[in-house]
Amino acid sequence: MKVSVVPCNSYDPTQAEAALRQALEPLGGLDWVTPGMTVAVKANLVTFLKPEAAATTHPVLLCALVKLLKERGARVIVGDSPGGLYTKVYLDRIYGVTGMKAVEEAGGELNRDFEIKDASFPDAKEAKAFTYTGWLDHADAIVDFCKLKTHGMMAMSGAAKNMFGVVPGTAKPEYHYRYPDPDRFADMILDLNDYFKPILSITDGVVGMEGNGPTAGTPRKIGVIIASDSPHAADLIGADLIGLKAEDVPTLQAAVRRGLIPKTPEELDVVGDWKPFIVPDYQRVETTHSLRFNKESHTFFGRISSTFMDKALASKPVLNPDECIGCRECFKICPAKAIEMVNKKPIINRKNCIRCFCCQEFCPKGALKVKRTWIAKLLIKENKN
Ligand code: SF4
Ligand code: SF4
Repeated sequence: MKVSVVPCNSYDPTQAEAALRQALEPLGGLDWVTPGMTVAVKANLVTFLKPEAAATTHPVLLCALVKLLKERGARVIVGDSPGGLYTKVYLDRIYGVTGMKAVEEAGGELNRDFEIKDASFPDAKEAKAFTYTGWLDHADAIVDFCKLKTHGMMAMSGAAKNMFGVVPGTAKPEYHYRYPDPDRFADMILDLNDYFKPILSITDGVVGMEGNGPTAGTPRKIGVIIASDSPHAADLIGADLIGLKAEDVPTLQAAVRRGLIPKTPEELDVVGDWKPFIVPDYQRVETTHSLRFNKESHTFFGRISSTFMDKALASKPVLNPDECIGCRECFKICPAKAIEMVNKKPIINRKNCIRCFCCQEFCPKGALKVKRTWIAKLLIKENKN
């Protein structure tokens, strides 16, 4: 397991390509590519946002990767299944807004195979049977190319979380409903990573998203590209850059539990010094995973483990009515049917809400924010002291 971190100051095509080449070098470059091979690049194309919104993998970096893979004689297909429909019309619109047409100009293909398949994975911890996007079956290898962002439910969206995009958008709410607990959701994500085994994970951390991520946050320059043969190792470095520890991120906690990564980035084999790129005031989402993690510890607060406390500690989506345009997207996406529209504003039934943050993720105006409860705020302050 190796991680490579290189500086990349901008999305200037020449600079981005040079940085990507440099990032891949310590991992053996692209020596695993053989002529005629089909490589699927799983990008993050979460929703209808332009590249400068910093919610999606930047097209300049994807084009650079396409070029490098084509040089090796590979056929390259770039795709994703964001939230919403998994159809040609819907994805063509996503490709258009997110700047993916450039991928075709660079010699790559955009996925237009919308077959949905079922997988059986008996060795999985959670995802023993799941639905996935069939285009990945045509690939000899999968490259996971994510964006470094904050995330309402999972604290961070990076390489591991990006693989949730193998589940068709239409089925995603069902998965949130099936795995409402962040730890179980994280284990499901790890199962998907284990099943599809991306050969390479690359993180677009040139400009990340801070604040109300993963779609309504603010672009924030970080200035790096991370590459690794392990999505979890790449995420451990990515988390450190944006002020998160393994205990703050359920997918990292799960990877530590499975022995896939150490607890700290310092224990990884990293080529390139990432410390100068840490953004100390990176705006995080108000999650409470570190408190949940401490249930296993021997601290006073760590021993508080009742279901009551879990509920009392869990962050929740809160509406800023002034930003809401009454579009009903939150109402439509809510897997728990916990939202009722009253006078064109969403009212969340807290008893039914499973805190999946789909409403926050897909609100086009960022009107829903992740908020900690007062008791979680108190405990987090206490833990810091
Ligand atoms: S209200 Fe929002 S966070 Fe709660 S279940 Fe619905 S989509 Fe998920
Ligand atoms: S998705 Fe956002 S803007 Fe639309 S109704 Fe819900 S809160 Fe309001």
